Amino acid sequence: MVQKAIPRETVEKIAQEYGCTYDEALNAWLKAEGAFTDTIRESLGARGAAGDKQKYGVVYIPRQIKDHLDKYVIGQDDYKKRLAIAAAYHFAIVKARFENKGVLSQFDVKRFRKKNTLIAGPSGSGKTYCAEVLGDLLNVPVHIVDATDYTEAGYVGKNAEDMVRELIAMAPGEDKQGKAEFINRYGGLIFIDEIDKKAKEGHGIGIDVSREGFQRAVLKLVERKQVSIEDPNSPAQQIQDLINQQRGGASGGKKSMINTENILFILGGSFQRANDSMEHIVKKRIDSKSGRLKEDGSLTIAGFGVENGDAKKDRYRNYYKDATEDDYIRFGIIPELVGRAPIRAYVNALSKNDLIRIMTKTEDSILNQYKLEFKLFGVELDFTDDAVEEIAQRAEKKKTGARALVGEWENVLTDFQFELPGTNFKQFTVTGDICRAPQDALAQLMQRSPFADFTERFKSDYGITLRFSDSSMKYVEEYARERGMQVADALKKLLASAAALNYMHESGEFTIDSNMLEDEKYFDKLYVEWHKKQMAGNA
Ligand code: ADP
Repeated sequence: MVQKAIPRETVEKIAQEYGCTYDEALNAWLKAEGAFTDTIRESLGARGAAGDKQKYGVVYIPRQIKDHLDKYVIGQDDYKKRLAIAAAYHFAIVKARFENKGVLSQFDVKRFRKKNTLIAGPSGSGKTYCAEVLGDLLNVPVHIVDATDYTEAGYVGKNAEDMVRELIAMAPGEDKQGKAEFINRYGGLIFIDEIDKKAKEGHGIGIDVSREGFQRAVLKLVERKQVSIEDPNSPAQQIQDLINQQRGGASGGKKSMINTENILFILGGSFQRANDSMEHIVKKRIDSKSGRLKEDGSLTIAGFGVENGDAKKDRYRNYYKDATEDDYIRFGIIPELVGRAPIRAYVNALSKNDLIRIMTKTEDSILNQYKLEFKLFGVELDFTDDAVEEIAQRAEKKKTGARALVGEWENVLTDFQFELPGTNFKQFTVTGDICRAPQDALAQLMQRSPFADFTERFKSDYGITLRFSDSSMKYVEEYARERGMQVADALKKLLASAAALNYMHESGEFTIDSNMLEDEKYFDKLYVEWHKKQMAGNA
């Protein structure tokens, strides 16, 4: 048997953290063979600090992360891979900082470069979605912010440091301090979307100065910066500062800070603006290198007979793929910030086929969501391939990526979502025809249950619920068929004088039988008899 050296200090730390005896901690440590504390926590029955059963601080290898992303995100392989690398290595370091300082001191890297990531590509194609899915796996808070909602410090509105405080608010923990400790211990992720909207455009006027100011503020955060967990401008913090001053120093002050080194930053954007785009910048650079740029700045495609081929290739080419550090700087991101995001990735525009796969192959596909929603009201929902293709085609035209899918489906399904619950329909298959003419289809569908339709209208007009016996329904259907009319119209005709019921029954139910329909004058006669009885009763 291999003799293990027992690190007394570690065991004591475990005992303290999980509030157990030294022996219990020792047993747990032996069982886990000195592995990371998740195994230890499990064997101690998760009565540790947070007392929860959630898995925090699990270290995943890049492939595991990529496999998880693959379940939800279609395509975008380059991004998924790079993000998996960024996350795996970042969160492994976060963990080592807390649990395995030995390895850190062994290498003693002074200026540790974080794996912050820059992601560019068309909107609606999975840039932020990947980050959300990643956060689910890692069980760390993910804060997705829109750069345009923040300003430079000192201006009205939220500033860059507020992002960190907002992230803290998302963490588990009873109070700000506890939440901040969670981030300190397990890390977090901030996705700054629309970073391209804060790019300088080279006018050198006010707006550019403020955009650069914001970028500089982000720059400070992305590597490591102490950020106060209290908003320094909040009254609570100002009182705290006063107390600290009176106590003769900033004792307490340190406790309320958080270091951003454990937070992974992803900077994303479509890098497109009215007069310029990343694609254009890259294309221009590549073409000028290959000598295809004319003096006036316009582009020509060299070579006889290759024009068509090249133009075609260009159409499907993803220029984001070739964006270099310099291209980002040309677009207006400050060089220092580009430098602090060493991982650069791109996403592709989603094709019709991608959109079909997004609907049919992903774990939380939108089709499944609709199926669930309808099921809640007792309707089994199905989609034909034709329907899915129709919607994918429409969404592709919108050029807003997968985001357009929800809108397109809502357009088709809204009336059905309203009408189908509570009807006799237990099964509903959405076809391409339904997608193309949802309103007509709904009318048609409702006519397939003309009895229910008639009953509903009769109830709302006269307050009486009609029931149809089987023989009466057969009679109506036969009557309609023989005369080549819609069942709904036959019902209207045959029951034209049924309104007389309104004068005889104040409310309640009335069952229609076939004999009532065979005799055209049935309800008139019924009313006359009832009326006679009333008169006799009154006399
Ligand atoms: P952006 O690239 O602008 O950040 P999002 O990631 O927010 O776009 O995408 C919008 C929505 O579209 C996501 O919430 C997700 O449901 C869906 N989506 C986008 N791209 C993909 C993809 N590649 N695979 C699966 N779903 C996607």
